[in-house]
Amino acid sequence: MSATRLDGKQIALEIRNEVARDVQQFVAAGNAPPKLAAILVGEDPASQVYVRNKERACQRAGIASQLDRMPATTTPAELLERIDSLNQDASVNGILVQLPLPETPVGEPALDERAVLDAVDPMKDVDAFSPINVGLLMQGRPRFLPCTPHGIIQMLHRSQIETAGKHVVVVGRSEIVGKPMAMMLAQKNGSCGPETANATVTLAHSRTQNLAEICRTADILIAAVGRPEMIRGNMIRPGAVVVDVGINRVDDRLVGDVAFAEAEQVASAITPVPGGVGPLTIAMLLHNTLLAAKLQAREGAVG
Ligand code: NDP
Repeated sequence: MSATRLDGKQIALEIRNEVARDVQQFVAAGNAPPKLAAILVGEDPASQVYVRNKERACQRAGIASQLDRMPATTTPAELLERIDSLNQDASVNGILVQLPLPETPVGEPALDERAVLDAVDPMKDVDAFSPINVGLLMQGRPRFLPCTPHGIIQMLHRSQIETAGKHVVVVGRSEIVGKPMAMMLAQKNGSCGPETANATVTLAHSRTQNLAEICRTADILIAAVGRPEMIRGNMIRPGAVVVDVGINRVDDRLVGDVAFAEAEQVASAITPVPGGVGPLTIAMLLHNTLLAAKLQAREGAVG
């Protein structure tokens, strides 16, 4: 058996076209085009590529974008000041701070990721990292859905892969992927996207015992670990759906967290790396930026 490849690029394109069409309608109704402001601190090459891709995707969807580059020597106060000025800027609808933040030189105050993300106005928090937005998600009444897990939900739904009643094993419990993914899949009221939730979820991590055995019980296995090809073919139940979130650079090649060649022989459907989950993350960022603009337009109209 060879698994069906879930084409993230194609599904992302579909979503981006939908967002572009909705942006046109939003602008035709008399609103300014939505605007996303990104802050990039330092020179991390991967971050530069991500930010450039996000800018390009915005442009294609009719969303304005602005990039604030700050040197790696930026102090916490300077960064917080920049975020505050974007919070106050009514022309900016969405703000993202590209992670990871650079290490600061020894003796200088460190840039605290948590404090930085907390400083973003929750109404402009298109990554959905602020405690208010995480709390709303947890309670099943989200404002913004975090982009990578939301992209995965969309991909499953648009590929007619049902999650209701299924056992989903999520490996990795990070704040940006694993933990919100598990939460969204467990929701019961369809608040986290199309009627795909209602899954039975196991959230595994580095302290999980018998990981392989647990993975083998998954109808849907989602790997968000950051360890190249850690999920082997013998950890997958025959016929399972495998979603590989990992992006790892090995010898100048991108590989996922799943050993693709082995997994493809066992799974019924699988996401490739690259071209799987990655493109969806950007598509959902565009979706959130438009949503932020709509929410702010509504708030302005009420106020
Ligand atoms: P983190 O490093 O923040 O989290 C990794 C998680 O994996 C942790 O919860 C950790 O457990 C767990 N883990 C580590 N080793 C093991 C192990 N041996 N067995 C079981 N669990 C383990 O990573 P992220 O969630 O930020 O990213 C994961 C991967 O996804 C990376 O490759 C990243 O590049 C990629 N990514 C891709 C995106 C996309 O758009 N496609 C978006 C974001 C990330 P513990 O908590 O115990 O330490």
